[in-house]
Amino acid sequence: MASDTVDIKGLQKTSLIDYPGKVCCVVFFGGCDFRCPFCYNIDLVLNPERLPTIPEEEFLEFLKKRKKWLDGVCLGGGEPCIHQDLPEFIKKMKNLGFLVKLDTNGSKPEMLGKLLKENLLDYIAMDIKAPLEKYDNAAGVKVDKRAIQKSIDLIRNSGVDYEFRSTVLPRLHSKQDLLSIGKWLRGSRRFFIQQFRNEKTMNPEFQKENVFKPEELNGFKEMLKPYFKEVEVRA
Ligand code: SF4
Repeated sequence: MASDTVDIKGLQKTSLIDYPGKVCCVVFFGGCDFRCPFCYNIDLVLNPERLPTIPEEEFLEFLKKRKKWLDGVCLGGGEPCIHQDLPEFIKKMKNLGFLVKLDTNGSKPEMLGKLLKENLLDYIAMDIKAPLEKYDNAAGVKVDKRAIQKSIDLIRNSGVDYEFRSTVLPRLHSKQDLLSIGKWLRGSRRFFIQQFRNEKTMNPEFQKENVFKPEELNGFKEMLKPYFKEVEVRA
């Protein structure tokens, strides 16, 4: 799945939580090559053509006006890296002096590599859906595991600030799975354990799914501390 144009399908004008330590706006891109059953951005992923597009010029004008208040832009979705015009789009934001954070599922290492090579990223957050052997189940599609590993390697060797993060729920993740992720990503900078929300989900069955208790999430955090420089829970 690839697109020739950048498709901005949503804009959150201010966020204090999407870019660690920075005030940012969040751009939502339409389309994604994964179908994670717990995903809550359903229309953005499945029916982006039904959502109005925000013209690029309109967004850049908005950015110019917010220069004093915003440090950066968080690119989310959907999956930003399926859009072939992403590097050109980011260059326009960088030319205006904004930091750029990319949220990605890691399925497109070619695009990620290109963005890194051109020094277009200031922070990367990559989803880790599950241990590699369970990836397809958690992503809802057959995933190219080599692409995932390649993205992880690119990020870890990039010199750019980054985090890995996993949205976890009992149906998909055991304590052993979390431990496997820790061993797999051992030595990485930052890992966030994210609480699953069973409100609106790609797979309607998941709306009835249990969530981990706060003490269980904190238990995972303690267990994973030896494997990362920093581990936190996002509840
Ligand atoms: S949660 Fe999964 S399906 Fe939803 S946008 Fe992220 S990678 Fe795509």
